[in-house]
Amino acid sequence: MSEVYFAKVGASKHNERLPNKVRQLFDKAGFNDLITEKDMVALKLHFGEPGNTTFLRPQFTRQIVDKVKEYGGKPFLTDANTLYTGQRSNAVDHLNAAALHGFLPAVVDAPIIIADGLTGRDFVEVDVDLKHLKTVKFGAAAYHADVIGAISHFKCHVVGGIGGAIKNLGMGLGSRAGKQQMHSDTKPIVEGEKCIGCGTCAKWCPEDAIDIPDKAIINQDKCIGCGECLIQCPTKAINVRWDASSKNMQEKMVEYTYGVMKNKKDKTFFYNFLLDITPDCDCVPWSGKQIVPDIGIMASTDPIAIDQASADLVNQQTANPGSKIKTNVNPGDDKIHEVHNIDWDLQLKYGEEIGLGSRQYKIIEI
Ligand code: SF4
Ligand code: SF4
Repeated sequence: MSEVYFAKVGASKHNERLPNKVRQLFDKAGFNDLITEKDMVALKLHFGEPGNTTFLRPQFTRQIVDKVKEYGGKPFLTDANTLYTGQRSNAVDHLNAAALHGFLPAVVDAPIIIADGLTGRDFVEVDVDLKHLKTVKFGAAAYHADVIGAISHFKCHVVGGIGGAIKNLGMGLGSRAGKQQMHSDTKPIVEGEKCIGCGTCAKWCPEDAIDIPDKAIINQDKCIGCGECLIQCPTKAINVRWDASSKNMQEKMVEYTYGVMKNKKDKTFFYNFLLDITPDCDCVPWSGKQIVPDIGIMASTDPIAIDQASADLVNQQTANPGSKIKTNVNPGDDKIHEVHNIDWDLQLKYGEEIGLGSRQYKIIEI
């Protein structure tokens, strides 16, 4: 059984402020023991796609930067470039997006290094020899760091169901080639009667895989399964056969996480922030209504336990009125499943199976 440390939202005095709780969690969860003097510590986060307003505030990251420095580490913030054609698909745009959202040295007191370099080609290939993948390709800066801290905004996700620690580390650090590997089963289809021929999907497709003679047609040979068209379509005309594709993608994401952690035994830590729990991830340039109220912050050294505990706590809430949750509104109902109709726990079951962590956890509230 793994330990997951937890601090609730809500404060009525100074030391109950959320930034303080971030610091307290660092010590209670024993993250200081993972850091040796002069260790380079990669803090993996998501700077948020411009237009999104529910990405994690730089203020939280700053608390973790300060704690890492207190224990002699050299922190830097990192993420890898995206597959889709948003504003984080190369290091220049990515750093500009980070700056736009307040991730600047004066605020976070740490440099930003885009893990897979200027154009996503700076990656290492690590042997994993697992069910789906023999090797994984992820950002070199993360591989060469001594310690990784995954700072994750916990919310729902269009392909994986949940976006937490596994998504942040596995999918997030994958190079562009790596992200293609993970997405390769996610081939979308167009429902002709819903398509209005607006062309938005073709504009966002990174592979030029969509023609719009009248209605959208996806060239399945060119499609890399990034899911971007699916998110952008205004009429929800694009869908994916989730049965096999989500399962495979979730499991590949887990294999990536396994690869990222492989040379960092006892050198990886996780924060999940259960705040602004939106229906989509921070890759979308908007923010949907939060599905449940803010809950708190978790910290653990086990990525499976922290994601399981986070999902369980979300599902234990009552749904926010007016959110995407219309049916599973009561405590105990699976709200996360309702958002994208995805069995989100497949990634956790597989992660446990390959020894990445445990779905059994004990919550220790601070
Ligand atoms: S058609 Fe394929 S490659 Fe193009 S945006 Fe959609 S999922 Fe991505
Ligand atoms: S974005 Fe949707 S509605 Fe517009 S062309 Fe593409 S599939 Fe059709």
